[in-house]
Amino acid sequence: MNKERKLIIAGNWKMNKTVAEATELIGALHEAVGTQTDVDVVVCPPFTALEAVSTALADSLIKVGAQNMSPHDYGAHTGEINAGMLRDLRVHYVILGHSERREYQKECDTLVNAKTKAALAAGLKPIVCVGETLEQREANETENVVGTQIAGSLDGLTAEQLLDTVIAYEPVWAIGTGKTATSEQAQAVHAFIRSELAKLHSEDVAAKVRIQYGGSVKPDNAAELLGQPDVDGALVGGASLEARSFSDIINNTRD
Ligand code: PEP
Repeated sequence: MNKERKLIIAGNWKMNKTVAEATELIGALHEAVGTQTDVDVVVCPPFTALEAVSTALADSLIKVGAQNMSPHDYGAHTGEINAGMLRDLRVHYVILGHSERREYQKECDTLVNAKTKAALAAGLKPIVCVGETLEQREANETENVVGTQIAGSLDGLTAEQLLDTVIAYEPVWAIGTGKTATSEQAQAVHAFIRSELAKLHSEDVAAKVRIQYGGSVKPDNAAELLGQPDVDGALVGGASLEARSFSDIINNTRD
C-alpha cells in the first residue's frame, strides 16, 4: 500500500490486561511486528500497565499510548493523571474523546479540546476520536455531528499542532458490535473530515493529517478499509487484545 501519509495502527486495550498479561502480549507483539518500519504501531494499555509496557518496548519501534488524561497540570484533581506524568512513562500518544468516554463520562468537545491542547503542550500526540451514533446516521446527521466534533475538539490548534494530531473516525454503531462501516462509508466520512480540516487551516495541512478508521477492524477487513485513499490507519479495540489478530491487521495492510 503506497500512501503519502504513513499508516498508523493503534490498539486500544480499554480496561483489559493485568501487568503480567500486558507484558506477555507485548512480548509476542514485539516479536511479530516490533522491527517493521512501514507502519507506525501504537499500543494503548490501561494506566496501570503503562510502565511495564514502556519498559518492555524500550528497544522496539512500537510506541506506547494512553487512553485518556486530565486537561489540568498538577494539583487537586483526585484520581486524574496529567500529560507530564504520561511523558514521564515514555508515552508518545494519547487517545482523547473516545465515544465510550463521551457517552459514559459525558465528555464534551470543549473538554476534549482542553485535553488536546494540554497533550500537545506536553509533547504528546493526541488521537482525537469522532463519530456518529446509528440514530444520527439514520437521521442523515453524520456530517453535521462529525463536523461539530472536529471543529470543537480541534479549535484553536496551530498548523503544527494539527500535524501532530491523529484523528480517529469511529462510527459509534461499529464499535465492539462486529458491524463495520463499508469501505465506501468510511472513505466518504474521511474525505469529509479532511475537507473540514482544510477549512480549519489549509488544504496543504489537511492533506498531511492522518485519519484512522475504528470500529470492528479485523484481519480480514483491514486491507480493504485501509486501502481507501483517505483512510490512513486503524484504531483497533477487540482485535488488539491478541498478538496474532493485531499483527495480522498490521501485516495485511503493509503491501
Ligand atoms: C475502539 O474501541 O476504539 C474500537 C474501535 O473497538 P473495536 O475494534 O472493538 O470495535
